[in-house]
Amino acid sequence: MKSNKLGVLLVNDMVLFPGAEIRFEIDNLEQRQIISVAEATEEKEILVVNPIENNLDSLDITMLPTVGVVASLKLKMDIPNGKTKIVLKGLRRVKVDSYYLNNSYYEATTKKLVKRIDKEDEAMYRDILIKGFDKYIENVPYVSNAIMAQLKYVEKLKEMTDMIANFLPISYDKKKKYILESSPILRTTMLIEDMNDDIKYVELERKIEQEVEKELNDTQKEFFLREKIKTIQKELGDVSSKEDEVERLEKKLRSLKCSKRVKDRIKREIDRYKNVNSNSPELGMIRDYLDWMLNLPWQKYTKDNEDLDAVKHVLDTSHFGLEDVKTRIIEYLAVKQNTNNLKSPIICLVGPPGVGKTSLAFSIAKSLNRKYTKISVGGINDEAEIVGHRRTYVGACPGRIISGIRKAESTNPVFIIDEIDKLRKDLKGDPASSLLEVLDPEQNSKFSDHYIEEEFDLSQVMFIATANYMEQIPLELRDRLEIIELSSYTEYEKVDIAMNYLIPKNLESHGLTELEVQFDEKAILSLIRNYTKEAGVRELERVISSLLRKIVKKLLTDKKTAAYQIDTKKVVEFLGHGKYEYSKPTKVDEVGVVNGLAYTVFGGDVLPIEVTSYKGKGKLLLTGSLGDVMKESAKIALSYIKTNAKTFGIDFKVFEENDIHIHVPEGAVNKDGPSAGITLTTALISLFTNKKVSSDIAMTGEITLRGQILPIGGLKEKIIGAKRNGIKEIFIPKDNKKDLEEIDKELTKSVKFILVDKYLDIYKKIFK
Ligand code: ADP
Repeated sequence: MKSNKLGVLLVNDMVLFPGAEIRFEIDNLEQRQIISVAEATEEKEILVVNPIENNLDSLDITMLPTVGVVASLKLKMDIPNGKTKIVLKGLRRVKVDSYYLNNSYYEATTKKLVKRIDKEDEAMYRDILIKGFDKYIENVPYVSNAIMAQLKYVEKLKEMTDMIANFLPISYDKKKKYILESSPILRTTMLIEDMNDDIKYVELERKIEQEVEKELNDTQKEFFLREKIKTIQKELGDVSSKEDEVERLEKKLRSLKCSKRVKDRIKREIDRYKNVNSNSPELGMIRDYLDWMLNLPWQKYTKDNEDLDAVKHVLDTSHFGLEDVKTRIIEYLAVKQNTNNLKSPIICLVGPPGVGKTSLAFSIAKSLNRKYTKISVGGINDEAEIVGHRRTYVGACPGRIISGIRKAESTNPVFIIDEIDKLRKDLKGDPASSLLEVLDPEQNSKFSDHYIEEEFDLSQVMFIATANYMEQIPLELRDRLEIIELSSYTEYEKVDIAMNYLIPKNLESHGLTELEVQFDEKAILSLIRNYTKEAGVRELERVISSLLRKIVKKLLTDKKTAAYQIDTKKVVEFLGHGKYEYSKPTKVDEVGVVNGLAYTVFGGDVLPIEVTSYKGKGKLLLTGSLGDVMKESAKIALSYIKTNAKTFGIDFKVFEENDIHIHVPEGAVNKDGPSAGITLTTALISLFTNKKVSSDIAMTGEITLRGQILPIGGLKEKIIGAKRNGIKEIFIPKDNKKDLEEIDKELTKSVKFILVDKYLDIYKKIFK
């Protein structure tokens, strides 16, 4: 009996490719019926299809694909568990004409898929596929190359693609796609893509492995080199005998101030040292450990200077301003004297580079009469850098905390942890949580370094952390720190610092006196404006010192002049023309260009935003190294304008018929932060209404979808940047009013501030 309809066997989780075989067990009634109907025909054919969606409880006709594979029943065998085992061989891919429901199962009529391929194309794609597959086998270690031999005998591209697709270790869903794609050429491109993805993945894996191995090798290498040096020293007779060494260690232990527990531990290690064979690599390891244990300041305190006035005096003579920090230190001392509570606060100084964070921490140590030690945790991604490696690890050593303490030679130093905002978190662990243990007063009296293994009391240490950006300090740490913000200096403050601190300090270090060199105020202002661009005064100090170097040379070589009065002319004579122009040349007012304000490492700066549009379909293009927050701001600004197009007198059609391009120039620095919203909005409105915005205006503030304006950070820095660029009027969020009031009047006097809380206020002021 021959029928033109075929029974449809639905298969989940498995894909039958033409030319391949699948075997599985069937147990339900419908499947049995389909098989027995097929069995009764001469060809024994059925149609195998994979439903479009997986794991459906109930199936309707829309879930059946338009392409399937006709298969012939090769074997049917009843097995003892009541199930039936069948083997199907895939014959050809067919197009399904229609499906029919025959009682409880589907039948289908099918059509041949005819895809003619040009002979040359076929040969070319075949070649591409074989080369691609060759590369794949070579690079991906977990696939066998046995299939290569079989492929040689396959001539047709369509068969070859099916064979490879069946072979690749890809997901069921991906395999399904190969069945549905009737063009062998497109299947070839799909295969090449999938294989390349796999190759890339394997390459990445290999790279990571190599890096890990390299790091391991570096420490191992160091260890072996050290051992070698020791052997050479021994050969040369440079090493004292073991007995002498033991005697020396024991003597050191006798005078070491530490707990009994630590003493016992060291004693035990010295005993081990005595007994270990002189050629054993363990000898060196025990020796290194003893070296650490005997040199740590277990109980070595310095006495704090308790004269509060004297402390204040030291801080004032080294640093201008910074009253918050100075007061906090004095308060700490006062409380300590009053309560005898020895727990130290954990201060974190946050601010731009060069505003005096590290040098102030150093002065604090000096003023308290404490020792001083500094570590930087910038870029650290490994916990072991903080808490050390276990001794079993080749080349192990203590972490940076214990190393810092050893350098300080005191149990209660001022301990600076620099760049706490640049800690990284990755596969190797989370150094921030280890630091947390170090800084937590509840836990740090029993700090345990993995190498040292004995508890070390860190509770008397005064930790001072420093950071550039508050937002980047890991959250869990931020909670524990007493954050004190240091902001950029204004020009007036910089002049003050130069006059009273930097110049006297540098005159002294260059062996000069005020009688020999005097600066006039204009000269200092010129150094600040034309030779530096920074939030702090580090660069300024560098130029002053460079100027003084030149004067020293002049005084020595040119005996005629005994004193120098430094004015602006002399500055140019000694240093050449400065590299910065104080005020940028006034720009012309343009449509679609508006000045924003940014908080940068230089303090603050004007950041013009440009927008333009051209015929298109409403796409939004963003360029200029924008971060995610700024990209979102751009989308919000555009949505807000679209929603209120009528209010702004914009024809909605312009959004549909044009593409919009937003660009933030000013070099390729990464720009991010939520304060460009209103600038973006204004630039867009200026573009759509073809109205110019004055380049004397700048603005900063985030916008919400409803046009509310949200407050921003770094106001002082932004105002400094705006003034430097000759801005005359600044729009700022109303919620920043308090910050504005706190800023030095000297800084705010020649600029007009407009406080706004709704975008419409800006619109009315600028465009109406
Ligand atoms: P930071 O750690 O914030 O990057 P530094 O502490 O290294 O900055 O300071 C850079 C230089 O500027 C130091 O020589 C410091 O003495 C000087 N300096 C910074 N702020 C002040 C200030 N308020 N008064 C006097 N000198 C300062």
